[in-house]
Amino acid sequence: RADLAMADAKQQGRNTWYWYQGDELRVAQASVLLRHDLHTALRDDQFELYYQPIVETANGRIRGLEALIRWHHPEQGMVSPGVFIPLAEQTGQIIPLGRWILRRVCQEAATMQAAGERVVPVAVNISSLQFRRAGFLEDVQQALSESGLPPALLELEVTESVLLDGAEQAIALINRLKAMGIKVALDDFGTGFSSLSYLRDLPIHKVKLDRAFIKDITTDRRDAAIVQGIIDMAHHLDLVVVAEGIEEREQQQDLIHRNCDLLQGFLFAKPMPQEAVMELPDLLPANPEH
Ligand code: C2E
Ligand code: MG
Ligand code: MG
Ligand code: MG
Repeated sequence: RADLAMADAKQQGRNTWYWYQGDELRVAQASVLLRHDLHTALRDDQFELYYQPIVETANGRIRGLEALIRWHHPEQGMVSPGVFIPLAEQTGQIIPLGRWILRRVCQEAATMQAAGERVVPVAVNISSLQFRRAGFLEDVQQALSESGLPPALLELEVTESVLLDGAEQAIALINRLKAMGIKVALDDFGTGFSSLSYLRDLPIHKVKLDRAFIKDITTDRRDAAIVQGIIDMAHHLDLVVVAEGIEEREQQQDLIHRNCDLLQGFLFAKPMPQEAVMELPDLLPANPEH
């Protein structure tokens, strides 16, 4: 059990460093408890969707939103998705949870559209388990039809692990989504085992550069070189490029010069509830606090 929990914590990467501060047993216990609580969380309505704006690099105009799930745990307070999504994947809970997320996001996006507020595409993170499971396409179709959300306003974020069962299946599925008018973005690009050939083979429309490359972009020439290389290559492949985790004005300046299309990060806005995101102005000035 302890080994399993540590493996979870490692997979989740930087979001969960604080887990290491406890001893292994505490990590294991916490993870077993959370796994148990996940079963009732959906029933007890403990999940909420937050939305983070994605803006045009040069001027901060809101061009999209990313839906990010939040779990209001009755005892532990807010639990990070970096912690509980991997647990939900292990227990299989990710399937009903993922379906719920899709439906809720489509409903909320349709509400915003009906109100004429924030009419931009909303991106939903899709777990690879959910994506590769039979019936996924039907779930997407159902979420769209019951909400009335136009497919052009839905975007799906997947990671390269959708390729685990073989590329053909993933390519076929993305092509079918594309035919329905839904766009697919490749998330966390540059981490894991990212291969440049994924950009060639997958019929995606957007690449999201992981924060790991952005963090030191203004000081580390190697990171800057990699980012510039990915941006240029993506553009030659007609892909849109988003950089994640922008916290400083200097990073924005840098990415303007590198021709990065879109930015997402605390500099512009943190993830927030739907009501708050509807009240944002169309243009987000860089936040001087960052
Ligand atoms: P992700 O899809 O790469 O989402 C971006 C993460 O970066 C979010 O963390 C967001 O809050 C955080 N972030 C945004 N801007 C900044 C910044 O300027 N600085 C820093 N330090 N962080 C920033 P969050 O919400 O904790 O989500 C973590 C991961 O959990 C997501 O990474 C995604 O892989 C997963 N996740 C979140 N919501 C969902 C969901 O609804 N379904 C699934 N399957 N996975 C989800
Ligand atoms: Mg994402
Ligand atoms: Mg990401
Ligand atoms: Mg990430």
